[in-house]
Amino acid sequence: MTDTLTPPTVAPLASERRVVTAIPGPRSIALQERRRQVVSDGVSSALPVFIERAHGAILVDVDGNQFIDLGAGIGVTTIGHTDDAVVAAAGAQLADVTHTLFTITPYEEYVRVAELLAEHTPGDFAKKTVLVNSGAEAVENGVKIARKYTGRAGVAVLEHAYHGRTNLTMAMNFKAMPYALGFGPFAGDVYRAPNSYPLHDGLTGEAAAKRTIDYLEKTVGASDLACLVVEPIQGEGGFIVPADGYLPALQEWCTANGIVFIADEIQSGMARTGAYFASEHFGLVPDLVLSAKGIAGGLPLAGVTGRAEIMDAAQPGGLGGTFGGNPVACAAAVAVFERIESDGLLAEAARIEARLRPALEGLRKRFPVIAEVRGIGAMIAVELLDPATHEPRADLPARIAAEAAQRGVLVLTAGTYGNVLRFLPSLALDDALLDDALEVLTESFAAAGA
Ligand SMILES: *Cc1c(COP(=O)(O)O)cnc(C)c1O
Repeated sequence: MTDTLTPPTVAPLASERRVVTAIPGPRSIALQERRRQVVSDGVSSALPVFIERAHGAILVDVDGNQFIDLGAGIGVTTIGHTDDAVVAAAGAQLADVTHTLFTITPYEEYVRVAELLAEHTPGDFAKKTVLVNSGAEAVENGVKIARKYTGRAGVAVLEHAYHGRTNLTMAMNFKAMPYALGFGPFAGDVYRAPNSYPLHDGLTGEAAAKRTIDYLEKTVGASDLACLVVEPIQGEGGFIVPADGYLPALQEWCTANGIVFIADEIQSGMARTGAYFASEHFGLVPDLVLSAKGIAGGLPLAGVTGRAEIMDAAQPGGLGGTFGGNPVACAAAVAVFERIESDGLLAEAARIEARLRPALEGLRKRFPVIAEVRGIGAMIAVELLDPATHEPRADLPARIAAEAAQRGVLVLTAGTYGNVLRFLPSLALDDALLDDALEVLTESFAAAGA
């Protein structure tokens, strides 16, 4: 690992944590004031420091503070901020062709991304893709396609799920506050079943799957379901890893009943867990895979990829959108796939887990409020429960994150109760930075009174 990071055309950025003002600093405070006048209060920010530059795993704010970023924009800059290959590919594409609209005149980069998704999503069969702009749009299109293919309306989702902020996806989320409260009426035909949550339900995968399936059969009926949408590892829900055998049993039931099995890999996909898609860890071969977040190194791009006969159920003109599969975003995505492949980035996720998980287990010995360390690869979380009552400690993660921010580490919270700290750093986070961030985290647990 090098000790300086060199994005093109700008001065090198030292790959280190550096706190030079109070957090937020004076320039961030001034910008926050301007923002308050003109940006909707409906858009919030976890940490109101304004970022001016970023590279690798480092964010630099307008006051010159440097943060170690353990969130990567919620798993978006998975291969690193301003990755050199992504910057070069997107920059060249920007100058060549910025936009044509694929549904008017196509271009090769869109086709290349579809080829790469066909190659790297699980399953050895003919696959096709539609590209869109955001994760929620991928979810919407996955459901649309499954409904057309099956001729059924019902959409099954799981407790603790998160699928987006559009009208349909609001109805698919578990948590009403802040995502849905007051924003109705909501889309119908969405059915929410119990999930597998080993820390809380203590069920085997088999027993949890039976509970999910019984619930759906009784409350909907398999023959009315177009699709079941699952996150292999639930993201916003708090990196919930289902018990062994749970997801394969659900998939088997879907297949037996003609229900399209859709893996929402928007947070768990694109090398995050040390596999291209987390489905691989569970032996899943989804009918449709949804990707977004990490796919284009920070540019907006998302896709639905799956069995050709399902994807082709949509009539010509039924799928698309003005910006969907934008050439610049596609060129960036091609660079991301190439970097993962040629630089062995799947192994970097395993390297991060090998260092992060034991450190968090160590922290758990010191702070019994940590009930569990869970996750796979560079998608690891700790859930905080009162050791005596097992009630969620909803107050703590935000306090710990605030303490860490004061010390120059950005860490994100998650969980239905907000009682989870999640770590989803860029794979460019080297061991020295990770160790430094872990020291800060230990101090922050103590400072927050954990
Ligand atoms: C972020 C996310 C979405 C929504 O993606 P957007 O790009 O924010 O619309 C959907 N599903 C999962 C699992 C996500 O993590």
